[in-house]
Amino acid sequence: MRRLLSLAFAFAVAACTSGTGNDQNAAAEARGPREVAPILTGADARDTQTYARPEVARVTRVALDLDADFANRRMAGTATLDIQAAQGAHEIILDSRGLEIEAVTDAAGQPLQYALGANDAAKGQPLTIRFGEGAAPTQVRIRYRSAPDAEALQWLTPQQTAGGRHPYLFSQGQAILNRTWIPTQDSPGIRQTWEARITAPEPMKVVMSGERLTPEGEDAGNRRRAYRFRMDHPVAPYLIAIAAGDIAFRELGPRTGVWTEPAMLDRAAAELADTERMVEAAERLNGPYRWGRYDVIVLPPSFPYGGMENPTLTFLTPTFLAGDRSLNGLVAHELAHSWSGNLVTNATWPDRWLNEGFTSYFENRIMEALYGRQRAAQEEALSFAEIEKALVELGADAPGTRLRDDSGAESSGIVYDKGAAFLRTIERTVGRARFDAYLTSYFDRHAFQPMTTARFLSDLRANLIRGDAALEQRLQLDRWAYQPGLPDNVARPDPAAFAAVDRALAAYNAGGDVGAVPYSGWTTAERLRFLNGLPREMPAERLAALDRAFNLTASGNSETLFAWLQLALANRYPPAVPAVERFLAGQGRRKFVLPLFETLWGAEDWGRPIARRIYVRTRPSYHSVTSGAVDRLLGAQGRQAP
Ligand SMILES: [Zn+2]
Repeated sequence: MRRLLSLAFAFAVAACTSGTGNDQNAAAEARGPREVAPILTGADARDTQTYARPEVARVTRVALDLDADFANRRMAGTATLDIQAAQGAHEIILDSRGLEIEAVTDAAGQPLQYALGANDAAKGQPLTIRFGEGAAPTQVRIRYRSAPDAEALQWLTPQQTAGGRHPYLFSQGQAILNRTWIPTQDSPGIRQTWEARITAPEPMKVVMSGERLTPEGEDAGNRRRAYRFRMDHPVAPYLIAIAAGDIAFRELGPRTGVWTEPAMLDRAAAELADTERMVEAAERLNGPYRWGRYDVIVLPPSFPYGGMENPTLTFLTPTFLAGDRSLNGLVAHELAHSWSGNLVTNATWPDRWLNEGFTSYFENRIMEALYGRQRAAQEEALSFAEIEKALVELGADAPGTRLRDDSGAESSGIVYDKGAAFLRTIERTVGRARFDAYLTSYFDRHAFQPMTTARFLSDLRANLIRGDAALEQRLQLDRWAYQPGLPDNVARPDPAAFAAVDRALAAYNAGGDVGAVPYSGWTTAERLRFLNGLPREMPAERLAALDRAFNLTASGNSETLFAWLQLALANRYPPAVPAVERFLAGQGRRKFVLPLFETLWGAEDWGRPIARRIYVRTRPSYHSVTSGAVDRLLGAQGRQAP
């Protein structure tokens, strides 16, 4: 039904001809460095966030040769792109946002004509390179530099690092930010292999999301060192990532290790001690891990996400360091993306649930394998509560509650949690053994390829349902994938998961004494269930008593601290404000920063002046992903001091 693009191209026929079956499997395994990943055609696979027209000409490999210029906050050098063009093509269109282009040539250095088109606030500009007379070139080389405010990159001052002595750089490419530092076709459906040579001043070390070829770097002159990397599996271009700073490495297991600033290394390694076991558990669930090493880097606190699943090198926020591994579900999540997201990737962003819903489901399965049913059941119940919250906030019939959603609502309670609930519902309907076998074969059949919702459903019908009409009816696949709300066959969490906590909560909410709440003996999940279940209208004395009894303001666990601060702000509880300000200044994770500002902003006359005062101070420390979201919330007036 949905054909791959083999007609327009004479190459890659073996890898492109069939959507299912074991032949393709073998082709994916045998694919060498220069083999080309297929591109999906069909309306459901059309990416509206790229200017590229891959059916005319597409990028197959990116080779970067860049200097990291900390003084001027720019990446500068060349990008050499391998391209494949259809017969008669005259041009190739790339994505670019804020890039300063100096020259474009072919591989022999002959200048090529190019033009930057009109600028779109989100998509940036098309960079169109014309081929001239004769056959299309096989390579184009672009000499350029990124802008100092490139959205993908955050250049930190020494004061923004734990060590305080050297600057730091990291990138965040998802969803469409890499075009601010790499001129390529920035679409998840156009997979590309890549290599890079990056220079940085000593003693900075550079790491990237690929194989490290020069661990200590080579002398590049001028007290700079050059680092080389390579990724020979075709990846979605948002997965090209870089970090550079005063960082050190420690091994965690035979193929796992952690990078972070030296001052953070002991803490990070202790929190990550189960990483190798997680990889083993994930392989038992999903099939072989195909990326070689699985390392992680624990970044400075301004990293805007919990984690980013950059291949071979997961990027992590330091806010998951709780001291007791109670927040390491984050690592299981990013690891799970090595299959759902990196191996099989959403072809376009409205299909994001294929990355995040699958991954949230696998995260929970990995947690169960390592820590047992109880912890997994509790985390599943917390996830289910997020679906219910999203349905209340968006409206149960709102378009934004569909799994495949192009409304722009982007609710994590839907994309992550409803997505996971869909897979859990299938698992519990067909049985775990059968569903696990299906998913392993799904990753095999579609390894290193893009995926759409329609394609997933047809694969499921062909390989799991196999004409069983009764099963088809029970699963309600189209309702799950395309309709708003929650289908009535949803697998609900085990009511026993939080039975004891819910009893304590009910007693407390009925006016009971704080002394009767066994908070200190609870797990992190149980504490979150309790805090999130407290009313948003409570007398100040009761809040003060809670804080005294459980030491909430001083919590070293970012999730429970966040839950407490949200409760306190919703209650307009002034004693919590200094702690809110410390938390908002001390980290820049959007998941924490944006809701706290939302709560302040919602408490109009009381909260808005506080929000303005704090944001003026903290905004410069945030990555664009976080500051952009808060900017939209507060509007222009929010950025000025009250
Ligand atoms: Zn994720």
